[in-house]
Amino acid sequence: DPRLKAISESIRVVPHFPKPGIMFNDITTLLLHPGVFKDAVDIFVDRYRHMTISAVAGIEARGFIFGPAIALAIGAKFIPLRKPKKLPGEVISEKYVLEYGTDCLEMHVGAVQPEERVIVIDDLVATGGTLCAAIRLLERAGAEVVECACLIGLPKFKGYCRLNGKPVYVLVESR
Ligand code: 5GP
Repeated sequence: DPRLKAISESIRVVPHFPKPGIMFNDITTLLLHPGVFKDAVDIFVDRYRHMTISAVAGIEARGFIFGPAIALAIGAKFIPLRKPKKLPGEVISEKYVLEYGTDCLEMHVGAVQPEERVIVIDDLVATGGTLCAAIRLLERAGAEVVECACLIGLPKFKGYCRLNGKPVYVLVESR
């Protein structure tokens, strides 16, 4: 797909952010190019529009940039999966392991109904731990996670093929 080159080139790589040794993939530079931003959203929309997806679940915070645009275009609802203590209603939570320590994602009870077909959106997959927690949350609520989708895959997420048996669709590999 000829659109992928511009998508890859518009993502800035920032060395030593947020800590020494980390090469941070910054998608805010992609957002400054409306044509490229639209191409990225369109590729996901073309992929998911005929898969009878009723919900797009976005992971805080950068999944909130792409998820709603995709959800509106395919006629699906948007479900925010948030960091702890942000959602005001009753929630279910899933902890996950990070390189240093643990984190947690929460979803409102009632956000998704059993059997709904859902896709999960984030900007980047590294170890896959965050997407795994999102899948567990949605499956505990009875939803069917059809696929996870990210703009960027880090090479360390080998083949970025499957998480908990779920496929992961990635637009570009990190430079
Ligand atoms: P994982 O759980 O797959 O190891 O890490 C993915 C999560 O960390 C995503 O929510 C993603 O936003 C964040 N993340 C880790 N490294 C980077 C990075 O280099 N750039 C960006 N934009 N996000 C990152």
